[in-house]
Amino acid sequence: MAKTIILGTGLAGYTLARELRKRDQQSELLLITHDDGSSYSKPMLSNALDKGKTADTLVMASAEKMAVDLSADIWTYTTVSEIDTAKRQITCDRGSVEYDNLVLAIGASPIRIPFAGDAADQILSINNLEDYRVFRAALKKSQRVLIIGAGLIGCEFANDLSSTDVSIDIVDLAPQPLGHLLPAQAARALRDRLSSAGINFHLDNAVAAVHQADDTLSVELKDGTRIETDMVLSAIGLRANTAMATAAGLDSGRGIKVDRYLQTSQQGIYALGDCAQVEDLHLPFVMPLMNAARALAATLGGDKTAVSYPAMPVVVKTPLYPLVVCPSPRPVDGEWHEEVTDQGIRAWFRDDKCNNLGFALTGELVKERMAMSKEIADWLA
Ligand SMILES: Cc1cc2nc3c(=O)[nH]c(=O)nc-3n(C[C@H](O)[C@H](O)[C@H](O)COP(=O)(O)OP(=O)(O)OC[C@H]3O[C@@H](n4cnc5c(N)ncnc54)[C@H](O)[C@@H]3O)c2cc1C
Repeated sequence: MAKTIILGTGLAGYTLARELRKRDQQSELLLITHDDGSSYSKPMLSNALDKGKTADTLVMASAEKMAVDLSADIWTYTTVSEIDTAKRQITCDRGSVEYDNLVLAIGASPIRIPFAGDAADQILSINNLEDYRVFRAALKKSQRVLIIGAGLIGCEFANDLSSTDVSIDIVDLAPQPLGHLLPAQAARALRDRLSSAGINFHLDNAVAAVHQADDTLSVELKDGTRIETDMVLSAIGLRANTAMATAAGLDSGRGIKVDRYLQTSQQGIYALGDCAQVEDLHLPFVMPLMNAARALAATLGGDKTAVSYPAMPVVVKTPLYPLVVCPSPRPVDGEWHEEVTDQGIRAWFRDDKCNNLGFALTGELVKERMAMSKEIADWLA
């Protein structure tokens, strides 16, 4: 029976393993991860304070428990450094291992801007449980937090921190939070609501440098403003982990390139999740990886299945101002049309032929998200 190796035990790796086991309990399955292999829901990292969760209590199952549940071997604290496509083997800390099918579910890494200043190396970012543990330990010693990036993740962390008594500054290059994901009135309403909860926005601005000033950090903005803070958290986005695949000769763009069957440019090697680009789409969030895992499990089980994507809205975890966004996954020309109601804002993004390409909903109107999604053509039909 074919031996499948999955690199990565994030949502992509574990979801695929579960889907595989629904179809076949016998075949050899090995998962390898360079972290501790805990199963957790990454989206909860940005609302864990509000939910009363810590890094430890976010863990739903240990690697040992997952290994039993999945009838799989799981190698933790093991880094894979190389793929040899000719020999069909990978090299990791424990030596070389052969595969019949290899699945890359190795995620993405925070983008790091080389800021000036002698404390730039103290900037934190949160993309896994260990990062979160470090953040929570630092938070215990912080009265002030400055967040770089007022996108989805930055606003979610700002909202979550507002449930504590730290003061919060948030800086972004764009003139509004959530940039192109929101039309102007909805963005203004979000900013006003978060501001009224004590979050200080510095928009149309940028961090230039981070300096150490005695026991605190002094953040210098592009316009010359200096903000004293205890912690700087970067939320400026992630870049797919493509280096190992590229070194092995696999095609990469914004992610490791795969076809509709999640196969890379190399036969027998597949990719899904934050590391993968399906056709022209790199969509680093949960719904796409769930669809991909179901399709790939079917294909690996002998039932060749192409992944398809309906329009997939994202619920933004800003309970101070409930919000759902469904941007077009491709760059398209269009305009926002906003309708302000007593219950919130309903906004369509439309092209000049009046086709609905995306939408945003706020307040009580977020309940319309499924109905509105149906008005949008499938992203991958
Ligand atoms: C704070 C935050 C909030 C989010 N909120 C939402 C949300 O509300 N809704 C939503 O849809 N999405 C959200 N997302 C995005 C979503 O969480 C991700 O799309 C998803 O978790 C990615 O899973 P993954 O398995 O592809 O990657 P990861 O979870 O990053 O897993 C990668 C795995 O690969 C392993 N690995 C990497 N390189 C190697 C190597 N060389 N050798 C061995 N192992 C390796 C790692 O150890 C890890 O196990 C959020 C993301 C963040 C950071």
